[in-house]
Amino acid sequence: MPDIKLAGAMARLGTETAFDVLAKAKALEAQGRSVIHLEIGEPDFDTPRHITEAAVEALRSGATHYTPSAGIPELRQAVADDAGRMRGIDIRPTEVVITPGAKPIMFFGLMALVDPGDEVVYPNPGFPIYESVINFLGARAVPVPLREDTDFAFDLDLLRRKVTARTKLIVVNSPQNPTGGVLSRAAIEDIAGLAQQHDCWVLSDEIYDRMLYEGEHVSIASLPGMRERTIILDGFSKTYAMTGWRLGYGIMPEALADQVAKLMTNSASCTAAFTQLAGIAALQGPQDAVTAMVAEFRARRDLVVAGLNAIPGITCRLPKGAFYAFPNITGTERSAAQLADALLAEHGVATLAGTAFGEYGEGYLRLSYANSQANLRQALQRIGAAVAALGR
Ligand code: PMP
Repeated sequence: MPDIKLAGAMARLGTETAFDVLAKAKALEAQGRSVIHLEIGEPDFDTPRHITEAAVEALRSGATHYTPSAGIPELRQAVADDAGRMRGIDIRPTEVVITPGAKPIMFFGLMALVDPGDEVVYPNPGFPIYESVINFLGARAVPVPLREDTDFAFDLDLLRRKVTARTKLIVVNSPQNPTGGVLSRAAIEDIAGLAQQHDCWVLSDEIYDRMLYEGEHVSIASLPGMRERTIILDGFSKTYAMTGWRLGYGIMPEALADQVAKLMTNSASCTAAFTQLAGIAALQGPQDAVTAMVAEFRARRDLVVAGLNAIPGITCRLPKGAFYAFPNITGTERSAAQLADALLAEHGVATLAGTAFGEYGEGYLRLSYANSQANLRQALQRIGAAVAALGR
């Protein structure tokens, strides 16, 4: 194979390790090994049936064509109504852009706002694509370490030192991946104050807003003066167990929404028509499946956290949201990568090293508890046995 001389920016593009670990785990399973999957961040539930039926019906009735780049007007309206009700704000459909999954909102939102050399402040450990896209665009990635002793909320003193006149945008994610941390109203107010003081944007990743076990979800966009500088990222993947459908959205000032829609025109053209119609059914249909999923996640959270805390060498805080546990594994005297590798290769449990979410994830593993309680119990046994074996 001749060497391909890639564009320089490609060397700055990161990735999401979850997909690599999933591939490794699948390869082990193909050799006949048993692996319990706690690596990938997706609900294990089926999409509620009425949503799937709406998509089938949409296909049968000819929803097989292009749609406007920003999305079907009826879905933009349904998102505006639903997202506005949840956050207690008025949202106009022209402020909504529908995308294939919520992830493109990260990419397009940053692409539309951030110039090379601008600083972007983001949580670390955090969803790895923030850092990847910031670097890819030639901007300066400014991590804010999240500390366990503050339940993985932003350390506001530290944040105050990182946000400066050079900051173009602050990434906020609550409930958070990978820690399950949730920002309090007071913390969100402080971040909003900083954003206004330094005239910067906020990308507020609220994809786990329904997966909340304690407290209230506060959208930074609902605070005075924040609508005009906030992009809300949300979607259907987690709330309605629709990861494979690829359906998400961004909510932002109309002038920016037009630019993000233009990026859609230049890339995907539009989101698939029949999935958009299913999205309307998801938002306007019964919500009992969502309630049931969240109740089940809460039971699993309690099971996993209690089980992890019973293993010598591991401690785990009770996450307030999302479906991840982020146990401290420093007592095992192994690095996060060493322990994650050993768990997969020798004990059949796929997890992610905390460092998959940035350098400040060292000393932690991320476990997605989007798996059955029976599998979670077995995984806990395997982890316990693995840690005990390290001591011998
Ligand atoms: N934000 C966070 C914090 C996530 O964890 C994920 C999915 N893992 C996304 C955004 C992307 O969601 P989608 O599948 O809708 O692109």
